[in-house]
Amino acid sequence: MKKVYLDYAATSPCELEVVEEMRDYWDRIFGNPSSMHSWGEAAQNALQESRAKVAWLIGAKPEEIVFTSGGTESNNTAIKSVAWAYSYKGNHIISSAIEHPSVLESLKFLEKTGFKVTLLEVDRFGRIDTKELEKSIGPHTILISVMHANNEIGTIEPIEEVAAIARKRGIVLHTDAVQTIGHIPLDVKDLGIDLLSSSAHKFYGPKGIGFFYIKKGTKMEPLIHGGGQEKGRRSSTENIPSIVGLRKALEISIGSIQKEIQKISSLRDRLKEEIRKNIPQVSFNGHPEHILPNSLSFSVKNIDGEALAMRLNMEGIACSTGSACSSEKGLPSYTLQAIGLKGELLRGAIRFSLGRQNNSEDIEYCAKVLKKEIEELRRISPL
Ligand SMILES: *Cc1c(COP(=O)(O)O)cnc(C)c1O
Repeated sequence: MKKVYLDYAATSPCELEVVEEMRDYWDRIFGNPSSMHSWGEAAQNALQESRAKVAWLIGAKPEEIVFTSGGTESNNTAIKSVAWAYSYKGNHIISSAIEHPSVLESLKFLEKTGFKVTLLEVDRFGRIDTKELEKSIGPHTILISVMHANNEIGTIEPIEEVAAIARKRGIVLHTDAVQTIGHIPLDVKDLGIDLLSSSAHKFYGPKGIGFFYIKKGTKMEPLIHGGGQEKGRRSSTENIPSIVGLRKALEISIGSIQKEIQKISSLRDRLKEEIRKNIPQVSFNGHPEHILPNSLSFSVKNIDGEALAMRLNMEGIACSTGSACSSEKGLPSYTLQAIGLKGELLRGAIRFSLGRQNNSEDIEYCAKVLKKEIEELRRISPL
């Protein structure tokens, strides 16, 4: 059976070149970077080179990069550590209603310890309103956290405008860039942010490794205490094989970024056009222009999205309803609710996210199967 993976926003396969780059660092260059001997020194060199390269690729300085176990830890650290470090100035944090659970749950935790949180609403395309943001800033606001692009609908948020507001008011700004790093051009100086989160498995690197960027001069309290690695900002012996893999994956992704955007967005647009042409009563979710090149979220009336995803899976096609994180709990997606979907449009939502391995045969196959399965579902179980 033909297999078509269209769930790259959930995770991507590790590039073979990345796996090969990592190979030496399991048993040959295996030293602890903190050790004084030559084994340690070799590992320390790999660490420093990786840090310098990653920093350069996003317009940062090496000392502004802190390696972590992924996007979730980066978001937890960015939010909690800034909240704690700036609590002498205030206790108010602003974020959005459609953030990843690792942001929203961190904020809920902080609320239990006395912080106040404002979650900005989004419009029907999933964008926050910067005027609302300005209005919600008060004298005690210490942190703004708004994602760069949403993982369910692909909408890109107006981060540069948010950054201009944050800078004017002297508030620290964090952005969850897990869906954008390696997918669209990104420079931390151009964005104007103070902290940013990233995860390697979303850009064809290994799972369980990521980093956060923290602009020089930004205060933080560490989340993980211990031996003082990463300049005391994240203790634990550095995961050198994965750090090397992250560096390689980011190099590849950024090196081919324009070509990939071209290829992936044109495949996405073709699939979208096929759906629009052949399947009645479909509406597309996400912003028409400010959207990731690989995202295609839509709602099919008169069907159950879960049932459709299961049928597509039987035909070898991987997609998702809502996001991988919320669908496990079987709850309707809060992101889709935040853009105003209810009833049939909420229930019939499907997310395709394309990636590097897709080709035009995948798109033709997917369009064909989708049409067949939706017709079938509508026929046998009209809602
Ligand atoms: C995947 C994802 C995360 C979590 O990253 P992990 O490395 O899986 O912990 C955070 N934010 C967004 C937007 C994501 O898509």
